[in-house]
Amino acid sequence: MGAGLEDLFGKERPGEPDETNGEFRRAMVVAAHPDDADFGAAGTACLLARAGWEVRFVVVTDGSKGTDDPAYTTETLVATRADEQRAAAAILGVPEVRFLGFTDGELVYSRALLGAITREIREFKPYAVYTHDPEPVIIKNAFVNHNDHRFTGLATVDAVYPTARDRLNFPEHLADGLTTHKVRELYLWGSNDPTFDVDITEVVETKIDALIAHASQFTEGRDFMKRMLDHWREPDGRYLEQFRRVVMWG
Ligand SMILES: [Zn+2]
Repeated sequence: MGAGLEDLFGKERPGEPDETNGEFRRAMVVAAHPDDADFGAAGTACLLARAGWEVRFVVVTDGSKGTDDPAYTTETLVATRADEQRAAAAILGVPEVRFLGFTDGELVYSRALLGAITREIREFKPYAVYTHDPEPVIIKNAFVNHNDHRFTGLATVDAVYPTARDRLNFPEHLADGLTTHKVRELYLWGSNDPTFDVDITEVVETKIDALIAHASQFTEGRDFMKRMLDHWREPDGRYLEQFRRVVMWG
């Protein structure tokens, strides 16, 4: 018997699926690049997995621009980053990572992108979906929100509502045996207006381990992550992942 969400998350915790109503304790994390899911939601994913939820990562692009090291070809980089993402997910208790294979750095809003994410939602049927906040172009006057992040977030929000829930959208999915699905909660990271804090102090070292698994990206390893830890620590010593939470009505 896993710990309850109240034990793992404290008094501010995600919503609980109504299992008597056919809802599942499942969360999907949709990220633009290998490593984004781990920066944005690794701690939360780990806490959910420990509470007995099934968590799945969906990585939209192939990560094929993510190195200056001439030793890599595009093919070896894509394969390496996929392996790193699977290893990171396994550390967190996330058993499956889906790779949608769009080209890194070249993501545009398209029917193909919307359809691919909609298909993942209809197949997995998550209660909650975590992704990039698509709205900010600039985050907290400190970061440009990468083009791929914005389009991943926007297509994911659109897939949640209305595309995945309405049967006349992408009817070919239904012809393939899938059914429509209503996601109940959305959590957006990289927001200028976060409304929901997850205290990940208990699992922050596990989050660091997951990030270090992306060895092609963080060649400084744990030294770099120690600096990240200092940067992330709240004045009261806790570590948080922050989201804009949307509880879907109806
Ligand atoms: Zn990214």
